[in-house]
Amino acid sequence: MIKMRDIAGAAVAEAIPRQRELGTNPYEMVLAQLDGVGKELDLDRGLLEILKRPERVVEVSVPVVMDDGRIEVFTGYRVQHNSARGPYKGGIRYHPDVTLDEVKALAAWMTWKCAVVNIPYGGGKGGIKCDPTQMSEGELQRMTRRYVTMLLPLLGPEKDIPAPDVNTNATIMDWIMDTASIFSGHYLPGIVTGKSVELGGALGRREATGRGVTIITKEVLKRLGMSLQETTVAIQGYGNVGSVSATLLAQEGCRIVGVSDISGGFYNPNGLDIPDINRYVRTSPGHLLRGYTARGAAPISNEELLTLQADVLIPAAMECQITEENAPEVRARVIVEGANGPTTPEADLILEERGIYVVPDILANAGGVVGSYFEWVQSLQAFPWTEEETNARLARIMSQSFAEVWECARERSVTLRKAALMLAVNRVAEAIRRRGIFP
Ligand code: NAD
Repeated sequence: MIKMRDIAGAAVAEAIPRQRELGTNPYEMVLAQLDGVGKELDLDRGLLEILKRPERVVEVSVPVVMDDGRIEVFTGYRVQHNSARGPYKGGIRYHPDVTLDEVKALAAWMTWKCAVVNIPYGGGKGGIKCDPTQMSEGELQRMTRRYVTMLLPLLGPEKDIPAPDVNTNATIMDWIMDTASIFSGHYLPGIVTGKSVELGGALGRREATGRGVTIITKEVLKRLGMSLQETTVAIQGYGNVGSVSATLLAQEGCRIVGVSDISGGFYNPNGLDIPDINRYVRTSPGHLLRGYTARGAAPISNEELLTLQADVLIPAAMECQITEENAPEVRARVIVEGANGPTTPEADLILEERGIYVVPDILANAGGVVGSYFEWVQSLQAFPWTEEETNARLARIMSQSFAEVWECARERSVTLRKAALMLAVNRVAEAIRRRGIFP
């Protein structure tokens, strides 16, 4: 079995059924968001119609000989939403609840995310409906290689570049790269990002999302005239994004007063000792916070974490955490969305009315895809960068993107979420306009 901890975004998998329970069809959310922004931008109806539909949707059936000799047939998807600004870019998700509508929505969000940070990509996403926790490494490898083979004509460094998502990891990306290289007859590292460092994975890619969250938090605090030393932060989720954000923000001088993961959390108004917590989770069962003890660190629940007395709240766990029930109780002045979709649309309205700044996911956690972009550039040029180079370039892109979104929000008197979406949609629409409608 593949160890769950090694799998990117594993815990997020639990959020998917939750979203279903809440009755939210993610693709309907995409369409509603687009209608709102289309009106604001006075976008041509035809262009809006183009943006509402993915350019290409592929469904593949993936037969796999299981370890016991049985043949099981899985359903896989790849949705290529838009390529006006560059090749399709987006992860591959393995989960029992994968649906076509979900993949379509995630593909569209990738288009906006790449556009808001102005990297030369379109958006795509893939998924296989399967339960990877019940599959052996051999079964996973055969499924991955067959899925990629079925999609091969559509993938490529200049066409469509997958990456890890929920329940997929560097090992799976290595298999994708190997399969594509064998079929094309030459080494093809640029076909996928999130590979092992030994195979051209970028240094700093693993930390890029949390580093991006940190840069964005610093930018927003600067705009609000708040000093890092006087700022308190609460972080939900202590996986890749949450733990890196906590570590870097603590290094910058912020007081991290609350952290939590699926096993619960801790609160200390005087600040938690983040290096000590990191040492603990390195060897704790499941790398969870459960069982941590330190003077002054009081246990709290996840619900309590979201409404802690802290200047900044960073949801970095899963979807639909800030809802209409708890939004009225949120005490933070700023929310920086490390996770994808942590705030429901209803909660968003409440936070807006309460004057709480929400830096949206497509901007706040875009450090991950920027890190992927850097890996792709290095793979194409066969020229690896140092981690310092990667971090400096990441900081430049994130700060510049934040400044543009902040400015747009001020000029148009809209929320940061709407401003980010307006900038992104406008960039994609402009690319379509300039390219023209073929023939
Ligand atoms: P991860 O699996 O490394 O960590 C997730 C954390 O959330 C874990 O600490 C887990 O215990 C916690 N968690 C799970 N369920 C919870 C619950 N009910 N309450 C509180 N905590 C809970 O995942 P990650 O890679 O850190 O991703 C976190 C979020 O960030 C996801 O929404 C993901 O889509 C988003 N994101 C990740 C990246 C990336 O590069 N890793 C990039 C962009 C966006």
